Amino acid sequence: MTTIGVLGLQGAIIEHVRSIEACGKEAVVIKRPEQLQEIDGLILPGGESTTMRRLIDRYDFFDSLVKFGQSGKPIFGTCAGLILLASDIDGQNDAHLGLMDMVVARNAFGRQKESFEASMEIKGVTSDFEAVFIRAPYIQQVKEDTEVLATYDDKIVAAKQGHYLATAFHPELTDDHRLVSYFVDMVEVAKTKKLASV
Ligand code: GLN
Repeated sequence: MTTIGVLGLQGAIIEHVRSIEACGKEAVVIKRPEQLQEIDGLILPGGESTTMRRLIDRYDFFDSLVKFGQSGKPIFGTCAGLILLASDIDGQNDAHLGLMDMVVARNAFGRQKESFEASMEIKGVTSDFEAVFIRAPYIQQVKEDTEVLATYDDKIVAAKQGHYLATAFHPELTDDHRLVSYFVDMVEVAKTKKLASV
């Protein structure tokens, strides 16, 4: 059985659990670093990236999360989770996990657009995804090996680099599970590759 974890420190945790389950997979809320060994893929939820980072440090998660990614297991960062994955954050000297080569801008859609929904095409997923943005960041810049999956207002709002997936919006807040299902497929592919290499 494919098992997908949701980092359970802060943010929209239970919503991701529901969407993983709606895709027919087992979901585990990850509260301790040792639990990372039990899962095939991980979702870093939306919430508040600075708070989440503080909790990552407090509960000694940092190195285990980096190792998890470097071992080839897929990670999907949504909103604050995208910020945690980024190698660079506009206006800040230090990034967080730094696993995905991209520059992100926090709270980047401006005040008048604190929260909004927009229908958009997501490459490889669908042409009509209803995306929910909440004080969302966007991706300012990516490297060549990163595939841009979606843009809104000419800004990159979804991208994939190998086994890392990131969205500026919250795919878990609607009943449309197609993007989470796309991540589930990434996890299954990575799992098959790993089994083949043993
Ligand atoms: N603006 C938040 C941050 O910087 C992210 C918002 C969200 O996850 N909905 O962490």
